[in-house]
Amino acid sequence: MINHHPKFELIQAFVNGDLPASLSAGIAIHADMCAVCQQKIAQFTEQVAENSFEEEFLDRFIVDDNDALESIAAINFDHMIDDIVQSSDIDIAIPKTEKSIEFNGVKYMLPSVLNNMVLSKKANIGKLTRTRIQLNEDEIHTSLLHIKPGGGVPEHTHKGFELTVLLAGSFHDESGEYVKGDFIMLDGSDQHHPVSTNGCLCYTVANDALHFTQGINKLLNPIGSFIY
Ligand SMILES: [Zn+2]
Repeated sequence: MINHHPKFELIQAFVNGDLPASLSAGIAIHADMCAVCQQKIAQFTEQVAENSFEEEFLDRFIVDDNDALESIAAINFDHMIDDIVQSSDIDIAIPKTEKSIEFNGVKYMLPSVLNNMVLSKKANIGKLTRTRIQLNEDEIHTSLLHIKPGGGVPEHTHKGFELTVLLAGSFHDESGEYVKGDFIMLDGSDQHHPVSTNGCLCYTVANDALHFTQGINKLLNPIGSFIY
């Protein structure tokens, strides 16, 4: 069962279109798997639409009662509907394509929001395989990260944020077990050591290289740049 969801402020920013594509896609991927957040997004979207309708549309008419009635009477609703029906904007049916990606001999369906994004070649270090998703967001790097059974990421922290959305499998860290669909947003103050017993595939977004914190792991800091 999904236990980790985006904070409401993130959902608000998502609906308002204020998030970078990488984070926006992360929320869309989670919402695809999470009925609770899907509903929150739908409710908040409706609320935003209502507010902007009231502000931008009704205010124009309801200035004065008589004027308002005249203005509304002047709208030719038949024409308005004809225009909408005839608009070529709504005729274009985009065929739904499904794409998959293979890691370690296993085929995974990509979340539909990633179907049109460009993926780079896979790179490996130990039990980790990474494919960059090319969103060209400067210091924000987005990837698919596959961890083979028994693999993990050494204990680390980061200066920026790190978002992980679990697409398949599971992993655990000091805070507990994470499963498919979980949306895990960490910031620089969080330190963790994720390990995947049975393997997993994650969508990750980070805006700063991971910084390994413990003993010999400090020597692994090049891996931090690899995962980032
Ligand atoms: Zn959710």
